[in-house]
Amino acid sequence: MTDEELYESLTPFSTAPRDLWPDVADSDWNDYRWQLKHRVSTLSDLESRMTLTDEERAGVLLAGTKLAMSITPHFFQLIDRNDPDCPIRRQVIPRIEEAWTAPEEMADPCGEDSHMPVPGLVHRYPDRVLFLVTDRCASYCRYCTRSRVVSGVGEQHLEIQWEAAFRYIEKNPQIRDVLLSGGDPLLLSDNKLDLILTRLRAIPHIQFVRIGSRIPIFLPQRITPELCAMLEKHHPLFVSIHTNHPRELTNEVKAGLIRLAHAGIPLGNQSVLLRGVNDNPVIQRALVHKLLMCRVRPYYLYQCDLINGSAHLRTPVSAGLDIIEKLRGHTTGYGIPQYVIDGPGGGGKIPLNPEYILNRQPGRVMLRNYENEVFEYPDPQPIPQSALDALHDQAFSQNH
Ligand SMILES: *Cc1c(COP(=O)(O)O)cnc(C)c1O
Ligand code: SF4
Repeated sequence: MTDEELYESLTPFSTAPRDLWPDVADSDWNDYRWQLKHRVSTLSDLESRMTLTDEERAGVLLAGTKLAMSITPHFFQLIDRNDPDCPIRRQVIPRIEEAWTAPEEMADPCGEDSHMPVPGLVHRYPDRVLFLVTDRCASYCRYCTRSRVVSGVGEQHLEIQWEAAFRYIEKNPQIRDVLLSGGDPLLLSDNKLDLILTRLRAIPHIQFVRIGSRIPIFLPQRITPELCAMLEKHHPLFVSIHTNHPRELTNEVKAGLIRLAHAGIPLGNQSVLLRGVNDNPVIQRALVHKLLMCRVRPYYLYQCDLINGSAHLRTPVSAGLDIIEKLRGHTTGYGIPQYVIDGPGGGGKIPLNPEYILNRQPGRVMLRNYENEVFEYPDPQPIPQSALDALHDQAFSQNH
């Protein structure tokens, strides 16, 4: 396939097939409660629906004590069951490699536990906090950076101390931005979310709130008009979604995203760069173009964290830089995410960019553009006083 053929094959919005659940009524399929109840989460259920490779079967058997498997019927139907390398499949079906821990890997690669003043509240940057409001998701990503607490089967349990967390935010006026995450906050009921948002909104120094969620992708049925109407009461509210591959953006997903946008919610996307999933500039170009059509602005492209069992999904840093190099200048600036590495052990997000500065000398900088043409930009120099004096004379010597 040429690059253009690949791009053309990935860009259309399709509707998720339903062939594996043929007798389900539309009203059930479109009901997020039905979707949650019928998630594929056991080896026998999985094998009754598709043929696994040996690597996958071993992965499922070994995953039980690390990060649960769970896949919504909607997302499951996006898997190409005839392709063992399907990019959707690699994200949610465990593989044997996941059970191997590389020496550089960690249970808490972003050092979150050491930055929690209250359990469930990560305070790394002075002016904003990350509030983990649940440990459950609609489906589980095999590379999840929080797998130590997410899904309930791993080595730690998330203990949220609601009252202590709210009080900490209330007592620290430098906090102006609260990011709700988890787990997936949109898995909470409308009512519970409403209570959390109401409490946060009542704090005078909280300027805005954001929600990080993969529900619009895993469970688009959850984006109901009622949810949107509730969220709309709490503006300014931003939502960051998480999608990695253009095939995840189906018609159902697009409809949910447009509903959120209609409720006035600015939408961003956070992708994780994953080997064999999206480590390809053409796939990334198709992804960001489809996101813009769904009214979502690409926000971050994350280098995969050094989470235990992720070696088979991680790419070299050069792969991410190459993707940004091939987007910047070549497509809409709104479509270009910031590539970042979360500093291993806890340094926060560090931006990575291809090098556009060739040389810096006192008074000037040598640059290159996206086509590798070279430009010189001189720093501003003071205007000579003699020139200003001459202009002064010219202005006031005339008769007006
Ligand atoms: C990512 C993150 C944030 C938010 O960072 P932004 O760059 O503002 O999106 C806040 N706190 C923690 C701990 C984070 O990991
Ligand atoms: S949706 Fe987010 S929190 Fe949940 S498993 Fe995936 S990466 Fe982890």
